[in-house]
Amino acid sequence: MKTDVVVIGAGVIGGAVALELAKAGRSVVIIDKGSAAGAGSTSASSAIIRFSYSTHDAVLMAWESAKIWENWAEYLGVVDPDGMAKFIRTGYLVYRTTGYDGEAVRKIWEDIGIPYEILDASQLRERFPALDAGSYWPPKRIDDPAFGDDATGELSGIYDPLSGFMDDPMLAAHNLVNAAKATGAQTRFKEEVVAINNNGVGVTGVTLASGEHIEASIVINAAGPHASKINKIAGVLDEMNIRHRPLRQEVYVAPAPRGFKLEDNAPIVADLDTGIYFRPHPGGTLNLGGTEPACDELHWIEDADDWRQETTVEIWETMMLRLARRMPEFGVPVSPSGIGALYDATDDWVPIYDRSSIDGYFMACGTSGNQFKNAPLAAIFIRLLIEAQEAGLNHDKQPISYVGPRSGRAINIGAFSRLREVQHTSGTVMG
Ligand SMILES: Cc1cc2nc3c(=O)[nH]c(=O)nc-3n(C[C@H](O)[C@H](O)[C@H](O)COP(=O)(O)OP(=O)(O)OC[C@H]3O[C@@H](n4cnc5c(N)ncnc54)[C@H](O)[C@@H]3O)c2cc1C
Repeated sequence: MKTDVVVIGAGVIGGAVALELAKAGRSVVIIDKGSAAGAGSTSASSAIIRFSYSTHDAVLMAWESAKIWENWAEYLGVVDPDGMAKFIRTGYLVYRTTGYDGEAVRKIWEDIGIPYEILDASQLRERFPALDAGSYWPPKRIDDPAFGDDATGELSGIYDPLSGFMDDPMLAAHNLVNAAKATGAQTRFKEEVVAINNNGVGVTGVTLASGEHIEASIVINAAGPHASKINKIAGVLDEMNIRHRPLRQEVYVAPAPRGFKLEDNAPIVADLDTGIYFRPHPGGTLNLGGTEPACDELHWIEDADDWRQETTVEIWETMMLRLARRMPEFGVPVSPSGIGALYDATDDWVPIYDRSSIDGYFMACGTSGNQFKNAPLAAIFIRLLIEAQEAGLNHDKQPISYVGPRSGRAINIGAFSRLREVQHTSGTVMG
């Protein structure tokens, strides 16, 4: 088989890249070892679309991408017969606490013109009565005798009214792959890429576990938590200055208490004061995940094919009780409902959208638990990186940029380089 482009991975990133390249007139084959689009880490995503990152380029990327999620059907250009994912606007509240005062983000929002409000503790209580405004910093484990201590003060928050979430991340990836197929792309599910072939200068294609060779002069690594494995077999790991590795997480669903349902206008909440984030979900439920506080062990995984998908009682109890601190009316369910999932986390929690030393081999990986929202722009970046290489430009030496139509501002794609110095960020999933 011969094609212009092989995309490894049919998650939200691979799906978006495939659509972008198919729209640009290239023949594309998407290969995924799973059996459906979005069935990898994308399926576990909280799919939050927010604009709060620590660096200017990352905020701009999210701000530009958000417009695409809001106009999802128009962006795709085709209606998926299996259903369409939807953007649900809720707004986003981040508590200002000792470890995260939100100032870096606030200044970037001010500069770009992203609307926000500062809410003091009494305004927080008035606006969101289900939420407690106490300060419990630092986040604690439940075996810490101080876990149940009274609040030591009160917090304020930064609220942006425009954030939201996609109601079904796996369906969103399916929508992308469906649109890519409608534009001519082909899919090969249940096929595993086991080798990236090159002739010493450029990539020549991939080999599948079945032994089949697919010839292509462009190969994109969008393999999610398996991406470091793919970079290793491509032989490009050693040239990278930024590591990316699978990191195990757990996310939960629970009944939402009174005042924190979608119909109550409940926001997405980032609460680094207790170490959690949560958001309302359709059906009177809420989704809950962690923000990697210093007291929690990070579970790095050696092999993305060998890890435990079931939740653990200890982490579940910790997360539920942290949520109960922040929402006094939250009733902890009798049994866990959630899953384990993997991030492909980088050293600085910033993704890698880049070329490599092998002509034609590109990577869209290191998505660090925070890049669902950026998939549409990641795809544009990959297209521009391919076009730059074909034009003889050396992005490693002279980074290319992209001017976003919403802001009119240039995003430096070099900010997502594999060769960058580790950036100063929150050091968590917040990016
Ligand atoms: C629990 C959780 C919560 C998150 N919450 C948010 C959020 O609220 N907001 C946000 O913006 N981001 C969030 N993220 C991050 C975001 O969801 C991910 O960055 C994104 O889904 C990654 O998509 P992907 O396409 O790179 O990877 P995946 O969806 O994992 O897709 C990679 C695909 O590659 C395939 N593959 C791997 N190896 C091979 C191979 N050798 N051959 C063929 N196929 C292969 C896999 O089968 C898989 O389908 C979250 C992530 C997780 C895990």
